[in-house]
Amino acid sequence: MPHSTKQQAYIGRFAPSPTGPVHFGTLVAAVGSYLQAKQNNGQWLLRMEDVDITRKVAGADTDILNTMEGFGFEWDGEIVYQSQRTDCYEEALEALISLSLVFPCLCSRKQLANVSDGIYPGTCRNRSLPETSEHALRVIAEDHVIKFDDAIMGRQSQDIKRQCGDFVIRRRDDLFAYQLAVVVDDALQGVTEIVRGADLLDCTPRQIYLQQLLDYPTPGYCHLPLAIDASGNKISKSEGGSTVDVKGREKLLLRTLHFLGQQPPEDLYGSNLNDIWSWAITHWEITQVPQSKKLPS
Ligand code: GLU
Repeated sequence: MPHSTKQQAYIGRFAPSPTGPVHFGTLVAAVGSYLQAKQNNGQWLLRMEDVDITRKVAGADTDILNTMEGFGFEWDGEIVYQSQRTDCYEEALEALISLSLVFPCLCSRKQLANVSDGIYPGTCRNRSLPETSEHALRVIAEDHVIKFDDAIMGRQSQDIKRQCGDFVIRRRDDLFAYQLAVVVDDALQGVTEIVRGADLLDCTPRQIYLQQLLDYPTPGYCHLPLAIDASGNKISKSEGGSTVDVKGREKLLLRTLHFLGQQPPEDLYGSNLNDIWSWAITHWEITQVPQSKKLPS
């Protein structure tokens, strides 16, 4: 449904982690990224972020896909599963190692728990590879301020070294860290704009830093407001909050649009799913999305 005259080849994506059923926050990220892609006449890719197999819940991927289908989302191309892309992450890791920016870290969780500000103190910075003891791999955070303009949250800036410190790119259990996997996948899939929840706003400078080291382009960013319940707590799927039920999909889609600052007209209440999507794609306005929003109880 082309509704835009913009010429740029837009590639967006939705990247859920199969750690449980779809909750309202997941739906918000799906709807926001979908509408932004559709309105830019772009592609919308679906990626299962199952890189952390220890958090994977059996059947959650199928459950998410069924919900997506039930809501009428149409994704482009094959679904990508991070668990099948270890080779790509390995290649990126080798590239970082060849820049002499990776070191083995033997620090235990317990040792790091004592660090007051939570910023890695550089304990193992002088260690080098290969390392035979059990270790994580960290990338050196150089003295570098990362700045970017988020389409919703505005100008952002983070001093990687001081505010974050050297960060893990491969864990002690040999699994690649989300930070590396997401950067590699977005680059290899040609993603031009990332629309996702604001819980990831804080990770974005680390991801941009990795993009710069790996010579990848930096996509645009739009961080959507988090779904906060009436008492101000984030609704997260691990807490089992607000699981999405396809049965009430029309109402829920309208509620999501409203949450995202869009103003569906009264006569759309009672309409079918197609009509709601059609209205939403035509009228989607990212500039209307608020920076934060409470859900009514
Ligand atoms: N997999 C992440 C999640 O479900 C989203 C990652 C991203 O969009 O970059 O919270």
